[in-house]
Amino acid sequence: MKIGVLALQGDVREHIRSLGDCGVTAVAVKRPDEISAVDALVIPGGESTTIAKLARTFGVFDLIISRIHDGMPVYGSCAGMILIANTVLDAIEGQETFGGIDAVVRRNAFGRQVDSFEADLQFKGITDAPFRAIFIRAPWVESVGSEVKVLASVDGHPVAIRQEHLLATSFHPELTGDNRVHRYFVDSVCKESLKVGSR
Ligand code: GLN
Repeated sequence: MKIGVLALQGDVREHIRSLGDCGVTAVAVKRPDEISAVDALVIPGGESTTIAKLARTFGVFDLIISRIHDGMPVYGSCAGMILIANTVLDAIEGQETFGGIDAVVRRNAFGRQVDSFEADLQFKGITDAPFRAIFIRAPWVESVGSEVKVLASVDGHPVAIRQEHLLATSFHPELTGDNRVHRYFVDSVCKESLKVGSR
């Protein structure tokens, strides 16, 4: 299995390292042929409006939408969560997303209280010790559709969600050296989705 990390902007290298630690081949991707060649995609944290604009510039915006639609597993962290949500609140005018997850996500939601913080999360699917999560101008999930599972929350706000082949977290597991969220993406989301796809 080859996983691409969308390398338009954001903390690409950290995701490549975390995925590599999980034993999969991870490569930076930004051109259409590169994105077409991977089995799954990680969209890193960074700035969601910038990543969306660059995806248009590099001619991959519609390709990513169609690959999501065709069942490619995608994990979006922070800005990546915003980019795979169907609806974004507090977006800038005209802000586009790839969509895919039936959720309403509020940009910079924790930012009004604290710009950055850490929290210990109970993450469904990760059963041992709590996950220490780093939030940086993070979004939270305001509401989800019936197909979406909430995997972790902070103060009642969902911060990790999954809809079939799509996983999104408000926080940055790639910055902690704890690879359990990446492992969950590789071992649960990717393996289950790619098996279903090949039936
Ligand atoms: N606030 C950023 C945005 O709206 C996301 C921050 C992040 O990815 N750390 O895109």
